Amino acid sequence: MQIPPIHKNVIKYRRVSTDEQSTNYSFASQNDIIDRFLNNQESVEVHLDITDDASGKNFKRPGFIKILEYLKNHRAQKFSLVFIDWDRFTRAPQWETYNMINILHNLNCSLYCVFKPMGLDFDDPDEVVNQAITFAIPAAERLRIRRRTMNGTRQALKQGYWCNNAPYGYKMVRENHKSLLTPNEKAPDILRGFQMLIDGNTIPEVINYLKENKVYHAHSNIYTMFRNVLYCGQVKVPALKDESEIIIEGKHQPIVSREIFQEVQDILDGKRRKQLKKHESFPLKGILLCPTCGKMLRASFSTGRHGGKFGYYHCIGTCKTRHKIQEAHNLLTHLLGELQPTEKLLSYYKMVLEDTFKTDCQAKITHTTNTHKRKAEIKQKLQHLDNLLLEGGLKSSDYYRLQENLKLELTQIENKELEVRDIEKNYKLYLDWGINLVGNLDYYYSSGTLEAKSAILGSIFPEKLIFEQSHYRTPRLNNFISLFRPSDKELQYLQIQETPANASVLFDGSP
Ligand SMILES: [Zn+2]
Repeated sequence: MQIPPIHKNVIKYRRVSTDEQSTNYSFASQNDIIDRFLNNQESVEVHLDITDDASGKNFKRPGFIKILEYLKNHRAQKFSLVFIDWDRFTRAPQWETYNMINILHNLNCSLYCVFKPMGLDFDDPDEVVNQAITFAIPAAERLRIRRRTMNGTRQALKQGYWCNNAPYGYKMVRENHKSLLTPNEKAPDILRGFQMLIDGNTIPEVINYLKENKVYHAHSNIYTMFRNVLYCGQVKVPALKDESEIIIEGKHQPIVSREIFQEVQDILDGKRRKQLKKHESFPLKGILLCPTCGKMLRASFSTGRHGGKFGYYHCIGTCKTRHKIQEAHNLLTHLLGELQPTEKLLSYYKMVLEDTFKTDCQAKITHTTNTHKRKAEIKQKLQHLDNLLLEGGLKSSDYYRLQENLKLELTQIENKELEVRDIEKNYKLYLDWGINLVGNLDYYYSSGTLEAKSAILGSIFPEKLIFEQSHYRTPRLNNFISLFRPSDKELQYLQIQETPANASVLFDGSP
């Protein structure tokens, strides 16, 4: 093999790449090797000194493009491109390598690899074989790295760990040597975005909100964003060869509930009509039915003779039902006040609930003792299996099967324990909060936002309400509220009554 001499005009080329974590390829070591090599050459002159921080999968690297441009502008001169090894030159598929060698040749540039100089003579049969092998090795190595990364990524995904970039609202946190998505300070805005879609806001409105809050910048991927299952705590493992796509429970904390996520999917699919957008002035919109025909009442303002604006809930049927909003709202405040239990009753219920909780705790302690016992048993059995294997009393296939089952049970017990601990922690918090809410219904209602109002009404009245001037009517109350309702006192502002939607039409229809 004839190795051509190095030209006087030299271009130094190094490639460092973060995805190939090898210290042999650091900038300093490559530089040092090239410099020592050049020092041993007679009168060479470095015209261009380039470092690429890029993958070698193709030649679309900023530094390499600069070299090609430089060569195009200096066609009259001959150059040698000097690098330490062929995998620094490229890891591209071989045909791309041959193609680039040809391009460089036409630009009067020869290649000089310090570790393995080659003549690049395409007429010499031995040389042709040598080239094929030399160019194939870095390319194959790249494929191997890629496959390893892909398998690793897939394996992590299957275990519920997301390992690509964190979507808006999340950040990546290292935990037990694994990256875990963790909601960041933007997470509440993401939740708000989902909620806005459900509340009937249009996509541009949601985009504006998210942009204003600096959650999101590009315009094009809003659909992808709201379709990302990561937000409801799941991970998508894409289809590969004969494996079809699967969605599994992720290890990370969701930002929105499964229900909210599904609702938004239905909206984006056009399966569900968006709810009519509620106006601050009409918190009862969507809750009030027409007492005459049973249709949902609409809400709107009309302008009075002197230009004043008056809000009404009204029926769009022929029945002409029309309620002034002040009347409906005042009566509702009275009603909420009425549903509010006395403090004495509340403290009594709190005592009962806490008592129940303590009894529950006792049961849990017994349960915990049992699980402790079972855990100890499992650990003993595992130990026993180890001994059996060592003494040759067990085939290794059996050993792994038995060990697997025991370990699985152990994990299940431990997960359950964690769950119980969480419930205990939250229980008291919810209890206090619930009692406080029930004890101050009218306050929380009148001072709440539109969302809070809807939430409070929705949780007290599982069914729609009918306003009948002197009182409201509804088929039933929430069980929890019923529990607190003083039974000795007839409610003045509420009638609990199952009425078919069109029953009153029969009476009203008479001449
Ligand atoms: Zn009506």
